[in-house]
Amino acid sequence: MGIIVKETNNEKETFEFAKELSSKALAGEVYCLDGDLGVGKTVFAQGFGRGLGIDEPIVSPTFTIMKEYHEGRLPLYHFDVYRIDSEDDMEEIGYFDIIDNAEGVTLIEWSELIKSIIPKDRIKVTIKKDLTKGFDYRRIEVVRED
Ligand code: ADP
Ligand code: MG
Repeated sequence: MGIIVKETNNEKETFEFAKELSSKALAGEVYCLDGDLGVGKTVFAQGFGRGLGIDEPIVSPTFTIMKEYHEGRLPLYHFDVYRIDSEDDMEEIGYFDIIDNAEGVTLIEWSELIKSIIPKDRIKVTIKKDLTKGFDYRRIEVVRED
């Protein structure tokens, strides 16, 4: 895959881009979603879930840290680690079981906050604004790292 750069100008385009990506997602993949608050990480997760065939609304798991969905082509584990106090808390939530089992696809919003426990083999999705290109402009970079 290498690197993919996608520029979007509204929420729907980001949703559709993520939806398309997830149609090729494989069990065991870990997608790290990074970018400032309000940049569109959850919108990306929502499109991604839809592409896996999940019809249930995907909501930001800010308070529960993780939410899982089993109705799609592959299980989806959606993390938002913004409120995690320490990487130790991830064990309790079942993070390592999920990562090690590799049965589903994992999305991690704010992965930079737990970078020491992110697998090396990951797909890094970085979303950035550029206000010179408009309020709703987003640059989405997808890089497969290992
Ligand atoms: P995050 O999870 O990164 O904090 P959210 O996905 O919750 O961000 O929110 C993104 C916000 O930005 C939404 O209100 C969405 O409507 C808005 N938005 C505007 N333009 C875009 C775009 N191009 N892509 C994604 N979201 C966008
Ligand atoms: Mg979010």
